Amino acid sequence: MNAKLDSGVTTRPVTRQTFDEVLVPTYAPANFVPVRASGLDVWDQEGKHYLDFTSGIAVCSLGHSNPVLNAAVIKQMQTAWHFSNAYTNEPVLRLGLALTEATFADRAFFCNSGAEANEAALKLARKYAHAKFGPHKSRIVSCLSSFHGRTLFTVSVGGQSKYTEGFEPLPQDINHINYNDIESARAAITDDVCAVIVEPIQGEGGVIPGDLAFLKELRELCNKTGALLIFDEVQSGVGRTGALFEYMNIGITPDILTSAKALGNGFPIGAMLTTNEIAQQFNVGAHGTTYGGNPLAATAALTVLDEMSKPGFFDRVKEASARIFANLEQLAVDYPQLFGKVRGKGLLIGLPMAEGYKGKAKDYTKTAEKLGLMLLVAGPDVVRLAPPLVVSDAQIAEADRIMRQAADEFLKAA
Ligand SMILES: *Cc1c(COP(=O)(O)O)cnc(C)c1O
Repeated sequence: MNAKLDSGVTTRPVTRQTFDEVLVPTYAPANFVPVRASGLDVWDQEGKHYLDFTSGIAVCSLGHSNPVLNAAVIKQMQTAWHFSNAYTNEPVLRLGLALTEATFADRAFFCNSGAEANEAALKLARKYAHAKFGPHKSRIVSCLSSFHGRTLFTVSVGGQSKYTEGFEPLPQDINHINYNDIESARAAITDDVCAVIVEPIQGEGGVIPGDLAFLKELRELCNKTGALLIFDEVQSGVGRTGALFEYMNIGITPDILTSAKALGNGFPIGAMLTTNEIAQQFNVGAHGTTYGGNPLAATAALTVLDEMSKPGFFDRVKEASARIFANLEQLAVDYPQLFGKVRGKGLLIGLPMAEGYKGKAKDYTKTAEKLGLMLLVAGPDVVRLAPPLVVSDAQIAEADRIMRQAADEFLKAA
């Protein structure tokens, strides 16, 4: 084949088939190609409409094509896209102020994804412990079935071995304990541990809320041993559980907090937040990334925070959550052969498949998708709902109608 850049690259027709021909097969995307979206409404290449209860995996929390975000990002686009970290910029300075004023943290580091935020957090924890206690304090404790991203370090820290198989040798000195298991936490968190990383609610692992007693015990064990407590709030944060971050709901303050996903509403940005004392270990040259906190990404995130600061925003998230929980509880009562007990918090919700339909969560979501409702899974056994936080009561009712119809069709076909 001739190597040349075709002149019509931006306009030529493409289909779902093109994915299978030219993209590295790391994903198995849905059969339709979404082309346009507004709020919770998505349309595909054929003009078919979908109601989006995924938010692009808990990302577009203020809805697709949000007019306030569009205006802010377009304005910044016409002003300047990127300068690099050889220069700072006004949006990132404002974003740093906003995040440190709104949280426990004194300092923010910006990057481009959740994995990068966790990579920064883990590297910082190692460096802090080495400087303060010596190189023996290097062990990282994480939880089984956790998810922290896909770099080699973050998959190794993550608690799902299917994501590390074939990538050995892996980074060393990482131990996994059972989530919500206080005894195994006590056994594992000893003086040689530099960091304990935990999702306050496990997202990818099945939407499993952390027990308050377990998370408190992690805090105490970290205090006792000098390990840093890292809360991975990449999925639970930025409003998803009805507070800016879930740590505020539970009243347990970490030493480092990581954020991404909804922070940019779809504009890639990640953040690591920490205290003055810990941040000092990331001195000039210790860590970095080309795009981190560039003006466009920082503007998107800043505008997201501004929207969420409006009075009543988080109250409405809680109200929408209560409605959806009530609907799903009733759904599980009406279809006990299909669904188990609904769980989660705010608008991060898991609906486990009942015993007889284990492994079939994806099949159920495909049935709902045919009927025009986009849903996620969290592992093979759990249907996950993560609608934009701006979901209306009418949209909640429509999703309930489709989930019921999908349950009927799914049972008929099974
Ligand atoms: C999605 C996710 C990540 C990884 O974020 P990326 O932006 O995909 O790198 C890390 N931790 C948690 C809890 C997540 O849900």
